[in-house]
Amino acid sequence: DPYVAADRRYEGVPYRRVGESGLKLPAVSLGLWHNFGDDKPLQTQRDILRRAFDLGVNHFDLANNYGPPPGSAERNFGTLLAEDFRPYRDELIISSKAGWDMWPGPYGFGGSRKYLLASLDQSLQRMGLDYVDVFYSHRPDPETPLEETMGALHHAVTSGRALYVGISSYGASLTARAQEIMRDLGTPLLIHQPSYSMLNRWVERGEETPQGTASRSLLETTAAEGMGVIAFSPLAQGLLTNRYLGGVPEDSRAAAGKSLSGGMLSEENLARVRGLAELAAARGQTLAQMAIAWVLRAPAVTSALIGASSVAQLEDSVGAVANLDFSDAELAAIDEFAVD
Ligand code: NDP
Repeated sequence: DPYVAADRRYEGVPYRRVGESGLKLPAVSLGLWHNFGDDKPLQTQRDILRRAFDLGVNHFDLANNYGPPPGSAERNFGTLLAEDFRPYRDELIISSKAGWDMWPGPYGFGGSRKYLLASLDQSLQRMGLDYVDVFYSHRPDPETPLEETMGALHHAVTSGRALYVGISSYGASLTARAQEIMRDLGTPLLIHQPSYSMLNRWVERGEETPQGTASRSLLETTAAEGMGVIAFSPLAQGLLTNRYLGGVPEDSRAAAGKSLSGGMLSEENLARVRGLAELAAARGQTLAQMAIAWVLRAPAVTSALIGASSVAQLEDSVGAVANLDFSDAELAAIDEFAVD
């Protein structure tokens, strides 16, 4: 059956301005790290993407290595884009990244110009796109001069391969330096993509300098530098949901035993999750919904970048936008459990 997008798709999710740019992103975005590789039925992938777009979630986040196997998430997304979303290309924000291991040899990972531009071309080909909306340096690379990595991002834009560029998992001071370089080049970084959740609050803390004095936090830095922030794994990969309250379900990410390891499911963390689940219930939300609303409470954060293995999860999570406000008392109560 041909896909026709819902007429009312822009009535649910708010759109927030990305830093000082002219671009807006949905408060909730969908990432294709897990659940979109060749290990998952294409029909499930299609159902999730269609429902997302119908709900107003028009930003899909990918990377060269998403799968498994690496590259397959972009390829599957390309298939579904061609079949379902082609008429809606100008309503979509599609991102990709390069930084982690992708192909053998010295040019298949890192932050070199050689790797970044070749990888971006491969990503475009896999997805069947002329350009991505956002291209990221996926991680800082200590073995490449920052000027080289930023120069490659700048070239991605001027050569028409990307409309905007961003960085992921860079620390606060490196982010400020990167933005200084990009401003000089005339292509300011649009956005930073860090991990952030109630169980992972590094972006709020000042960075330690060799002098021992804490400098600005990442969230303070991005705000000062005019960049937006898209927070990845706001559900701590599923831990900040009701998924693990009764043990480890067979079909869960933790059972698969890859990126969500047993250590995260410590009794200490599970006690925090139970405490947070009670606070969510008192707000009339599921824990997933409160976890998403909580990262969005920070004015510096533009969008919460979630994953979903089913349409039901997606619907639950997007429901977060029904209550994004927190009282001071609620925030204080959450702080009792939201520690890392
Ligand atoms: P989340 O923290 O949102 O975890 C998603 C997982 O949580 C799902 O796969 C599912 O687990 C579970 N889940 C989701 N919604 C619900 C719900 N409502 N109720 C119960 N369980 C739920 O994010 P991810 O870790 O998946 O990361 C999201 C995106 O962020 C990625 O796809 C990627 O785009 C980006 N990312 C970027 C990184 C970077 O380095 N820049 C690194 C990591 C992620 P289950 O599968 O067990 O059902």
